[in-house]
Amino acid sequence: MTHHNPEKTSILDLIERFDAILFDAYGVLVRSNGAIPGAKELIIHLNDISYPYMVITNDASRSIKTATAHYQQLGLPIDQSRVITSSSLILSFVKQHNLTGKPVVALGEGNALDYIKESGATLVNPATSKTIEAVFLCELTSATLHQDLEDIVSAIIRHVDTHHALPHLVLPNPDLIYPKTEDSFGITAGSIAAMIQTILEQRYPSLEPSFEILGKPAPMIFEEGLQRLGIKDPSSAVMIGDQLATDIQGARQANLYAALVQTGLHTTIQFEKSSFAPPHFILKNLALSM
Ligand SMILES: [Mg+2]
Repeated sequence: MTHHNPEKTSILDLIERFDAILFDAYGVLVRSNGAIPGAKELIIHLNDISYPYMVITNDASRSIKTATAHYQQLGLPIDQSRVITSSSLILSFVKQHNLTGKPVVALGEGNALDYIKESGATLVNPATSKTIEAVFLCELTSATLHQDLEDIVSAIIRHVDTHHALPHLVLPNPDLIYPKTEDSFGITAGSIAAMIQTILEQRYPSLEPSFEILGKPAPMIFEEGLQRLGIKDPSSAVMIGDQLATDIQGARQANLYAALVQTGLHTTIQFEKSSFAPPHFILKNLALSM
């Protein structure tokens, strides 16, 4: 596949050209200190003209309900039916893999665990479990993290040594780190998954352990977004994001068009030097007026 330089465009042009839009949240519609300028007017406009859109976010620490409340607090009138978080895909995952009623363990608390309980899978104590069908690495909690990690690693090893097969290893949000301030970073569940994977690879090389990712760039969250909008042909929709590795690669792999907006992670970028395929479109911001 040959890569062309992305076409410069505007949000109004994308609305005109496509039947639906999927938006990333952070760096596109919101930042940690508020809504991105222009986002509020855009959402009001899309609501007014009944244009099909969804917000798909890797944020695994919030449920759809709390993520929506957060966006609304920042002034964006986005309805709950238009939001998908990576942790909410646990419901679909459990259904697809027939894990209802099956023993599973999880790292995390609050919202993420709510989805596991709601899914019908049975959360068991990793300190004492013998058999586990799946491990969900949802989020890092501080108080007992060290002990929780040792319990989960031990639970996986006990399971594999007994059954000679891996449980599902599930990672809602594959991000490794997130920006805390201008020059400090927090660690996310993806880093923990990398550690557990290294442990399992060394102990069980023939089992080729790897995590199943629910959020971007994996196809599941894109497919769920299109399905909710009733869009059958992915190429009739465009994903607008600020990250090449997740938003843009994921959209391209799921056969959507991809647009990079320069209000987030990549304010300037030299696509020729990147190992990632470029977006189809590039836009400065989401402002309706140019
Ligand atoms: Mg983002």
